[in-house]
Amino acid sequence: MNERELAEVIKMPDILDGIRLDRRWWELEGSGSFSCKSFCSFLLNNGMAEGFLPFSLIWKAKSPPKVLVWLVALGKVNTSDLVQRRRLYMYLSQHWCVLCKMSVENVDHLFLHCPFSLSLWWTLLREVKTVWVIPKGCFDLLCSHFVISGRGKGASTLWGCLVQSVFWNIWLEHNRRIFDEYEGAGVGELWDRVKFWAALWASVTSDFEDYSSSTILRDMAAAVM
Ligand SMILES: [Zn+2]
Repeated sequence: MNERELAEVIKMPDILDGIRLDRRWWELEGSGSFSCKSFCSFLLNNGMAEGFLPFSLIWKAKSPPKVLVWLVALGKVNTSDLVQRRRLYMYLSQHWCVLCKMSVENVDHLFLHCPFSLSLWWTLLREVKTVWVIPKGCFDLLCSHFVISGRGKGASTLWGCLVQSVFWNIWLEHNRRIFDEYEGAGVGELWDRVKFWAALWASVTSDFEDYSSSTILRDMAAAVM
């Protein structure tokens, strides 16, 4: 190092004094600090940082089975594939879906792609007069924006109740077939249960003050017009 270079090195602290130094900043947290939770949400959100997209549809719905639907979105419901993965050394199930007895049971199959469940979703979409392209999984389904018939808050409240009721009734049907000696309901019967619970949950909200659950159940379209 020659004299000129040495003088520059000596002056370096003064030069750097007024300069803001680089620092690491984790974009997914307001504090800028890394957290496993934010990174996990980012991965679950298909690499999108805007937050967990199904959040509002799930937690703002005015119906009880929010936690179940949240677990479905996270893929953490105890379907046979997950239960078996947790007990690799034990043979726990037949690995097929208890509703159709044809495919491997996982969250996306049980709640969406199973022919039984799919019939239920089609029935719901016919009821609210909308169309869809079958999503690749439950997460995408819960992120989807559906244009449904009806107006105002009542329509979105009833829609939220119906969606959650479909998930809830599929899960109840699944559990009853496994744990009770129960042959199982058909799609028509399950759809009646979906509507019953959705109408009951909607009827106790402020959006349907003037309606009883039986009135909503009798004519859902009229209740949201
Ligand atoms: Zn199935």
